[in-house]
Amino acid sequence: MDVFVLFWIGLAIVIGMAAGSRGRSGFGWFLLALVISPLLALILIALMPSLARPAGAEAAPTTATHVKCPDCAELILKEARVCKHCGCKLTPPSAATPAAKTFRERFADWWVS
Ligand SMILES: [Zn+2]
Repeated sequence: MDVFVLFWIGLAIVIGMAAGSRGRSGFGWFLLALVISPLLALILIALMPSLARPAGAEAAPTTATHVKCPDCAELILKEARVCKHCGCKLTPPSAATPAAKTFRERFADWWVS
C-alpha cells in the first residue's frame, strides 16, 4: 500500500512538472493529480493545448531578416517575392540590380554600337 501511495504522489509530481513546462500551474496540477488520479490528470493535460510558446517559433522581425513593403509599409521577409499583407509584387535586391555583364556581352555591345 505504501508503494502505491508513493507511486501515486510520484506520478502527481511528474504531472505537475509536465503542466509547468506547458505553461500551466505546476502545483495546481500536482494537487489535481493527487485528487482525481495521476492518470486522469495526465489525459487532461495531454488534451489541453499548451500555453507555452515554442522557443523561436515566431522570432521578432529585425532589419536583418525583414524589409518594409514599399506599398503598405508592413515588415515582410527579405526573401519574399509577394507581400503577405497587400499582395504587392516585390523584386528581390539581387534581381533589382542587373548582374555584371561578362566580357563577351560587353564586347558584343561595343561591336554592335
Ligand atoms: Zn505590402
